[in-house]
Amino acid sequence: MVGGGPGGNQAASRAASLGAKVTLVERDIVGGAAHLWDCIPSKAMIATAGALAFSRRAPGFGLSSGGPALQVDHAALAERIGAVTNRLQRSVEDLLTSQGVRTLRGEGRLAGPHTVVVRYEGGAEERLSADAIVVATGSRPRIPDWAEPDGERVLTTRQAYPPPEVPEHLVVVGSGVTGVEFVHMFSSLGSKVSLIVSRQHVLPHKDAEVAAALEDELLRRGVQLFKGARAQGVERTADGVAVHCDDGRTVSGSHVLIAVGSVPNSDRLHLDEAGVHVDKWGYVTVNHHCQTNLAHIYACGDVCGRLPLSSVASMQGRKIAEHIMELHTREHRHIDYDKAASAVFTDPEIADVGLAEAEAFASGRKIRVTKVPFGASAKALINDDPRGFVKIISDPATGVVLGGCIVGSQAAELISVIALAVTAGLKVSDLVESCLVHPSLSEALADAAE
Ligand SMILES: Cc1cc2nc3c(=O)[nH]c(=O)nc-3n(C[C@H](O)[C@H](O)[C@H](O)COP(=O)(O)OP(=O)(O)OC[C@H]3O[C@@H](n4cnc5c(N)ncnc54)[C@H](O)[C@@H]3O)c2cc1C
Repeated sequence: MVGGGPGGNQAASRAASLGAKVTLVERDIVGGAAHLWDCIPSKAMIATAGALAFSRRAPGFGLSSGGPALQVDHAALAERIGAVTNRLQRSVEDLLTSQGVRTLRGEGRLAGPHTVVVRYEGGAEERLSADAIVVATGSRPRIPDWAEPDGERVLTTRQAYPPPEVPEHLVVVGSGVTGVEFVHMFSSLGSKVSLIVSRQHVLPHKDAEVAAALEDELLRRGVQLFKGARAQGVERTADGVAVHCDDGRTVSGSHVLIAVGSVPNSDRLHLDEAGVHVDKWGYVTVNHHCQTNLAHIYACGDVCGRLPLSSVASMQGRKIAEHIMELHTREHRHIDYDKAASAVFTDPEIADVGLAEAEAFASGRKIRVTKVPFGASAKALINDDPRGFVKIISDPATGVVLGGCIVGSQAAELISVIALAVTAGLKVSDLVESCLVHPSLSEALADAAE
């Protein structure tokens, strides 16, 4: 395995558990960019933002504090993020060691169809030969040619945390999932935030009602939205930055964060020496088994660009290991990317799975859409957070659940129920007839299914 992120380490672990002799080559940390920069640190920061927001809502629970309001302690926050990352890294490493996986700390590259060369710090190299190879080298932030990140004022997502201080005025370029999570994170921690939105609304690939709900919340917090503006230049000024947009507007701030997607880590792998194909963007092309054009070389995760989620990379890694070990049985299911659940960790949270309303309308497919607001949920009122809604999409003829989306507290957890229904082909009646806990937020799922 080359790359020890969710894709590589899950492939290594599953293959070892099935009896393979496994070597994992990783240049940074086992756990990957997901643990070092992306999923885990961002969600740890967002957890702190959530705790702060919750403390501010204390009076809504009948509490009052005589003391000063809570403040961010940057050193403690950095220590906490480091502790969470280290603990996760250790648990992955311990598992792999206990399974007999040999982990090498170095940069891997291919040197033929069955050969991986590992270059260690200091320059020494080791050649490994393998029956099967898994490329799981992930991706890195895309840097547009009009911006030069300096790690001080012009930041990529990997340079933004833990921040030595909360930026006074952060300009975020990019209103996809990553961009809006950073807007949420820093606006909650006290930064003034401006968001440059190249389309007409944030989260362009999500349900329009979901995007509108998030925009309302961002505006309520005072986030400035610059819609229909595409950034095309960043300039350092005496006291900060100026971002120039293609519609003539300039957005000034103390810092700018560039969140405009990612590029695959395939360029230093010498894939051509092994004869492995990549597409014009550098993504490794794979089939439904995650095999490249060479049957014994597989690729998973962000480097093949299918659906850039940690959960998907992990699932691909496990499926690859099973395919290599010939564990594919008649019951084996390929990954159905259309049924992968995903979440946006804003406040309120957003989560969705399966068929989207707009997608169904665009294809002319008949659907039944049912929706309930959390305002009618006893638990949401008890939690003093009745924002958002649950929407369920089903087949009007059969009642089979095809998809759904949730805006609201705990959406990332609650979507699991709809995800299970979509994957298992359950009907709306199965949700309605489940006798759920009262009071709970999940009751809204059954109500929405009715
Ligand atoms: C800010 C941010 C937040 C995110 N939050 C979430 C989230 O909440 N949930 C979610 O599901 N997804 C999230 N994602 C996406 C998620 O991080 C990726 O989809 C996931 O990390 C992909 O896993 P991977 O195994 O393909 O690659 P990575 O996690 O990138 O791991 C690849 C590993 O390969 C190593 N490597 C690269 N080249 C070599 C080489 N030549 N030799 C040796 N090692 C090499 C790298 O050091 C790295 O450790 C987020 C992304 C970003 C940017």
